[in-house]
Amino acid sequence: MDSAPRDFLLRLLDTPSPSGYERPIQEVVRAYVSDFADRVTTDLHGNVIACKNPTAKLRVMFAGHCDQIGMLITHFNDNGFLHAQTIGGWDAQQLIGQRMTIWTANGPLPAVIARKPIHLLTDEERKQVVKLEDLWLDIGAKNKDEAKELVRIGDPVTLKLGYQEMKNGLANSPAMDNKCGLWVVIEALRRAAQRDLKCGVYAVSTVAEEIGLRGAQTSAFGVDPQVGIAVDVTHATDCPTIDKRQQGDVALGLGPVIPRGPNMNPVVVERLLAICKQKEIPHQLTASGKAQSNDSNAIQISRAGVATGLVAIPNRYMHSAVEMISLEDIDHAADLLAEFVVSLSGDEDFTP
Ligand SMILES: [Zn+2]
Repeated sequence: MDSAPRDFLLRLLDTPSPSGYERPIQEVVRAYVSDFADRVTTDLHGNVIACKNPTAKLRVMFAGHCDQIGMLITHFNDNGFLHAQTIGGWDAQQLIGQRMTIWTANGPLPAVIARKPIHLLTDEERKQVVKLEDLWLDIGAKNKDEAKELVRIGDPVTLKLGYQEMKNGLANSPAMDNKCGLWVVIEALRRAAQRDLKCGVYAVSTVAEEIGLRGAQTSAFGVDPQVGIAVDVTHATDCPTIDKRQQGDVALGLGPVIPRGPNMNPVVVERLLAICKQKEIPHQLTASGKAQSNDSNAIQISRAGVATGLVAIPNRYMHSAVEMISLEDIDHAADLLAEFVVSLSGDEDFTP
């Protein structure tokens, strides 16, 4: 990976973006894309749209959601401990014992989420699954007054951000979902911008995916593309306890995943597969009979319908502190999207 795109990925992973609180990450995106996009706009919802060839008749939209799951502060208790609601789909068990950051007006504030030690749990408590409402944040405040001086109701919270490289080109970070997918759509635009393009390419950093695909809905309406490809993480099934009979064979490092099924336009899917074959881009084929729980769902039914595809990044341990991906997979995914738009003459018909 070249140094500028690599630095960009690390910046994304280091910048907080709980749904509804995406302004800091969108600033990072805008600053980076201004070097190679013809036009960069931000809509009223907060989506950032970076476009190459804005006057072309055929418009292809890439969507990578920039938001991450998080929490927001709802209550101070009398002793200075804080309570919070979740933003997006959390497994409470994943939060116990985590280092967290509260993003206050005066900067990041460290916090932890924990519970009483195992020695003090009753037999009954040991058997129970912890509920989110039973957890609290501890910032080390002396009392309620001190906590209220530091934190405001509604301040967003994330897991402590960071990045760890591992063997075989793997890496883990909180919010790989979906900062790695956001990186792919921006990197695809950067690579495509250096080539001859006959279509307009709109790389969109969408907001609020984790609370119901909301940014994809508004930005797809605004961009009004004929073709829309979402990039998001998908479950890798190459670790213990996952049922491959339903989820299929998906491994880290074997390339991006191209799903087939009713949420996907078959012309787009076949074209993605043909490009993989032609350009020797490794990829994995999966199938899903449902409307997807990612931006491709909202894009497909925007306006009078959009020819929709999904390029998914294999991910172990989704919605945890250690979401793991392969750096080669995201590099191949960016190649695939760039080659897809470069291959278009502008006269294609994607009607199924
Ligand atoms: Zn996601």
